[in-house]
Amino acid sequence: MTIQWFPGHMAKAKREVTEKLKLIDIVFELVDARIPMSSRNPLIDEIVANKPRIMLLNKADMADPDVTKQWIDFFAAQQIEAIAIDSQSGTGVKQIVTVAKEKLRPKFEKMMAKGIKRPRAMRALIVGIPNVGKSTLINRLAGKHIAKTGDTPGVTKAQQWIKVGKELELLDTPGILWPKFEDEEVGLKLATTGAIKDTILNLQDVAVYALRFLAAHYPDRLKERYALSDIPEDIVVLFDEIGKRRGCLAAGGVVDYDKVSELVLRDIRTEKLGRLSFDRL
Ligand code: GDP
Repeated sequence: MTIQWFPGHMAKAKREVTEKLKLIDIVFELVDARIPMSSRNPLIDEIVANKPRIMLLNKADMADPDVTKQWIDFFAAQQIEAIAIDSQSGTGVKQIVTVAKEKLRPKFEKMMAKGIKRPRAMRALIVGIPNVGKSTLINRLAGKHIAKTGDTPGVTKAQQWIKVGKELELLDTPGILWPKFEDEEVGLKLATTGAIKDTILNLQDVAVYALRFLAAHYPDRLKERYALSDIPEDIVVLFDEIGKRRGCLAAGGVVDYDKVSELVLRDIRTEKLGRLSFDRL
């Protein structure tokens, strides 16, 4: 999905999320486990303000598990409960309801103390930047039983709820927020993981960033994938080596750097270099 984030659109997105927050008990902040900081909205704390929140580190299946664990501890130290999930396979997704119940226990106990015998379902909103997996998670939580409560004619479409078991209701449209574009490195990480379209940034710039990152943090995997005996210091030589080995050549047999860039980024996004995390503590 490509969204043009002009200031007007950002203001509108913020307004829409703020409106939705009035309807819910808890926010599920979805981020990409490979880049838990870079895939956050820069104003998320301000926007969510005092609503209870759980952070969901999605696509954890693609992230470096050791690094994900460090992030979960990091967020815990800031009183933010984070869970690693894989919305595609469903790993970790069941935990969401358990943790949400725990978080909302005080609120629901207060309601019970006021005489409400049966607590209603918890109401939640998923928020996150584009491509982080919001729709995939909604479908996963809804399972086969998508039971929208507002399907009858005349009921406003804007407030449809999806029932997740008996205990949770989810707003069927997630809150879409923008990433932290101003930071160049954040942009490169978003592009490397495929969160933003390749056409937004220069393809070779992204590949240079990705290869330098791999050389620094995952040198053995880089060597193994491209059959390198060592990693050349000079990035152009590295492009040449990969290009020659993988046949990324233009007319006349010279290495085609765009082809190398595409190959490397495709390899990263399809886990040919294993599970990778680009935000590090
Ligand atoms: P949205 O824009 O936030 O609604 O993102 P989508 O739900 O459309 O997901 C974007 C892409 O990420 C899709 O290709 C999904 O299949 C993929 N995706 C979503 N969740 C996961 C996950 O947990 N693991 C993996 N490997 N891919 C995922």
